[in-house]
Amino acid sequence: MTRVVIVGGGPGGYEAALVAAQLGGEVTLVDTDGIGGSAVLTDCVPSKTLIATAEVMTGVRESNELGIRFGARGDSDAENAVHVDLAAVNGRVLDLADRQSGDIASRLASQGVRIVRGRGRLDGRERVIAETEDGEQGFDADVVLIATGAHPRILPDAVPDGERILTWTQVYALDQLPEKLIVVGSGVTGAEFASAYDALGAEVVLVSSRDRVLPGEDADAAQVLEDVFDRRGLTVMSRARAASVTRDGDVVTVRLTDGREVTGSHCLLAVGSIPNTAGMGLEEAGVELDRGGFITVDKVSRTSARGVYAAGDCTGVLMLASVAAMQGRIAMWHALGDAVAPLDLKIVSSNVFTAPEIATVGMSQAQADVAVPKVATVKLALQGNARAKMQGLHDGFVKVFCLPVTGIVVGGVVVAPRASELIYPLAIAVSQRLTVDQVAASFTVYPSVSGSLAEAARQLHLHGEALTRA
Ligand SMILES: Cc1cc2nc3c(=O)[nH]c(=O)nc-3n(C[C@H](O)[C@H](O)[C@H](O)COP(=O)(O)OP(=O)(O)OC[C@H]3O[C@@H](n4cnc5c(N)ncnc54)[C@H](O)[C@@H]3O)c2cc1C
Repeated sequence: MTRVVIVGGGPGGYEAALVAAQLGGEVTLVDTDGIGGSAVLTDCVPSKTLIATAEVMTGVRESNELGIRFGARGDSDAENAVHVDLAAVNGRVLDLADRQSGDIASRLASQGVRIVRGRGRLDGRERVIAETEDGEQGFDADVVLIATGAHPRILPDAVPDGERILTWTQVYALDQLPEKLIVVGSGVTGAEFASAYDALGAEVVLVSSRDRVLPGEDADAAQVLEDVFDRRGLTVMSRARAASVTRDGDVVTVRLTDGREVTGSHCLLAVGSIPNTAGMGLEEAGVELDRGGFITVDKVSRTSARGVYAAGDCTGVLMLASVAAMQGRIAMWHALGDAVAPLDLKIVSSNVFTAPEIATVGMSQAQADVAVPKVATVKLALQGNARAKMQGLHDGFVKVFCLPVTGIVVGGVVVAPRASELIYPLAIAVSQRLTVDQVAASFTVYPSVSGSLAEAARQLHLHGEALTRA
């Protein structure tokens, strides 16, 4: 039996453990903070559970157009008639995360995975030491997988106190909605929390060091989001780099590098992540790290040390739970001799859970703009879609990219409520190299927002040819 020892029980680690057990390995999983990892306990699952409440509040706030009135005689507005009980919301968030962690642990146990609670480190390439409550335990291994994730980056002059200056892992301890929340960082995490707390009823200021929010995402999508933020009264301070965050009683002050100051009741720091790779005996075992401390891996998750694999946020390849899980599975398929295809980032779909959501797959607009040969694009505003009109949806679009001549779909963007669900047909098209004609040949429900995806594909029917003639 191949002895597999996995360090880290997030999606990178637990999905790998399930595959290794399925393929007949003797699997030990060492985790320090709880099965499910940050994904389940502090990051993905809690944030998306909080956002589920925010979504309902967004719907309530925008329901006037649909003829919904509040108060006995319709004399109250949504803001005054409905409010969020943050203690109840956060109680639900933490309870759900805890149960999800328990469900995963039970599944692992039922598959014969040995779970060890403790901090793991390498003792050479073929041995893992776990520091547990009962002292150190050593495990010999034929295959090791490191999947230890990452933790929030802290600025030296903006140290969280867990009460008013917070990282994203600490917000669930709040029992009252912040009066005025300053979110520092306008990447995916910052934008998601800004959007959510605004919907929940807090005044929100988003401090962005760049020209626009979501600098890594589709520029048209980011523009839609900025417009929506503006309309809802959420303030975006762009080209504003935070130098320090301090607290004086109930007031938090964010000082910017250009001398400006903004004050609020709370500050949420969302300025990136640091890999959990320090002090684990990695370099001593021959595992190469890059300058940021991320583990260098190839497309089948091998590190520079034979028999040692790595998956997930500790590799910095693409910090998504779905990618971590796939890297972990690929590592085990490779290590245990199963059929394996290398990781292909071109087919990864991802989503920003703002209101509206922004989902993308495959080639981006920035890549399409410089692609040779040229790539054809169609963008359709949600406002032209019958279902969107019925639902009172005004903000968003679908965008599809295809290759000339062949019409093969190479990417797409959906900006809409539940874009995370709508992107899947495009994800299938990109991964299976379907043509726009094949996508257009499938029936969509009438009326449906997904009808716009088929319409975009139809409009691209002759674009491939037109481009080659141009
Ligand atoms: C706020 C937020 C929201 C997010 N939302 C999404 C989302 O909606 N969708 C998505 O795809 N991604 C999302 N992500 C990203 C996602 O959370 C990560 O990509 C994912 O958690 C990575 O999984 P992982 O297995 O690499 O690590 P983790 O989930 O971080 O798990 C690592 C585990 O290893 C343990 N560990 C660390 N060091 C040791 C050690 N020495 N010994 C033993 N155990 C150790 C940790 O305690 C942890 O349990 C979000 C991230 C953030 C910050």
